[in-house]
Amino acid sequence: MVKLTFYGGVREIGGNKILLEDDKGKLFLDFGYPYGKYRKFYEEYLKPRAGAGLLDLLVMGLLPHLEGIYRSDLDTGNLWQQFRRAEHYRKLEDIDGILLTHAHLDHSGHISFLKEDIPVYATATTAFIAKAIQDSGKADFDQQVCYFTPRVEECLKEWKQGAYVASSGGDRQRRFYVADESRLRKEARDFWERATRQKKLDSQPLGDIGNCSFNLRCFPVDHPIPGACAWGIETSSGWVVYSGDLRLHGKQGRLTESFMKEAAQLHPRALILEGTNVDKAANISEQEVYENAFKAINDAKGLVIADFSARDVNRLLTFLQIARDTKRKLVILPKDAYLLKTMRLLEPETPDLNEEDALVIYQETTAARSPAAWLRNIYEECASKIVLAKDVSSNQGDFILCFSFFDLNELPSIQPRAGSLYVFSSSEPHNEEQEMDFRRLHHWLGHPDETFKDGNIVFQIRGFGLPIERNGKWEVPEEERGLHASGHACGPDLLRVAREIQPEMLIPVHSEKPEFYVDNLGGSGVDIILPTEGGTVEI
Ligand SMILES: [Zn+2]
Repeated sequence: MVKLTFYGGVREIGGNKILLEDDKGKLFLDFGYPYGKYRKFYEEYLKPRAGAGLLDLLVMGLLPHLEGIYRSDLDTGNLWQQFRRAEHYRKLEDIDGILLTHAHLDHSGHISFLKEDIPVYATATTAFIAKAIQDSGKADFDQQVCYFTPRVEECLKEWKQGAYVASSGGDRQRRFYVADESRLRKEARDFWERATRQKKLDSQPLGDIGNCSFNLRCFPVDHPIPGACAWGIETSSGWVVYSGDLRLHGKQGRLTESFMKEAAQLHPRALILEGTNVDKAANISEQEVYENAFKAINDAKGLVIADFSARDVNRLLTFLQIARDTKRKLVILPKDAYLLKTMRLLEPETPDLNEEDALVIYQETTAARSPAAWLRNIYEECASKIVLAKDVSSNQGDFILCFSFFDLNELPSIQPRAGSLYVFSSSEPHNEEQEMDFRRLHHWLGHPDETFKDGNIVFQIRGFGLPIERNGKWEVPEEERGLHASGHACGPDLLRVAREIQPEMLIPVHSEKPEFYVDNLGGSGVDIILPTEGGTVEI
């Protein structure tokens, strides 16, 4: 009997954690960070305490009550005693691995808490991007996907209590197994084995996926983050196929098409399918984004700011093409440069930072005196490509700045002049916090109320494609739509995926409206099973 238990991704977008158990072994399908669950209790200035180890996460229900799978350095003492009577408590040992679909944190983030000897299976691109994100990000203690600093319980005798504090030794890396090991040349291996912070990395090698106890299939699919895949697992009850996140309308849409054909040939017993955009009736393609953004930018005379989500490499390349076609230079942030550099280790068709004329790198005005090693390397290796606020400021019509809301702090140094344009190429706000940020964004763009008469300070940037609040709803003005291609397939495309793969059983995850599949696939011969949080489906 094969069992699937859903510890996350149930009626929520993200946080997928699906346990597959068979006589052959036990696997988790993704182990994601549940943003929605965190938002219920936490915000930027109220976070789980790193010094409390696993306690906050277990008490607040952010991590499943599964004893035996988490890092032992966060799990000492009699922590588990009080959770043994929890509804979904289990002692769970000998997990054979995590099948990771892609490097978005809502699928990968909670790997941070797992024992480091549980293997993580992924594509090489996903493993490398996960590392690049961690190297160049804030990497809070709950987002250390590839490597982590072990913590020690330190008893502070004078206060009669203790805390988990970061140990001073090296960072410990996880064991990754990649589906495409043959692509890793020496430089790529070096990247994996090097810590980019100052500390030493206690490195675990990348390995070949071949020695997993299950027969696995890894299918590349299209999603905004490169390296995304779906997985097929051959169980005693037949093939289980897990989609991860996917779309058909992106530049790599043919990958998802091939996945559908190949998965159909397996005649799967079960398909676990995402449903983020079930209520969208159609998609905007990346080509349409190019055309609409090109028109707006080609007419612009002053500075252009392009706002799109971090690590959407496809979108970055779309704007790079627009920069070439409008004779501007695309200004990217060092973390984007680091991501491109990392991807080039695996995908030589990725633009070369030093060879690409239309690409330059922005150095923050208040850069740290001793930047982290990854950042110092970018500044050194791409010295001729660095631009500062004053360079942008004095030739505003020459640039497209890739900034998002969180980079607006640079504007007082750049001082955008009359005729500047803010092209918004991302999704509308999904929660109250994001709505607040959008209000702030509008304030930034409209600032100052009165432009200085003889000085140079003139913001008053025109927004384009930017959602506006009307009667409590955030919408992009009709005539400015078509600047964002979603990372997820629309409803009709998801139904096509389900119909073509034609599993015996379909289990929707990563969706706020899983009933969509019940309503639309009734009578199609596919059994739709809606999972419950912590509940088990036997197949
Ligand atoms: Zn995703």
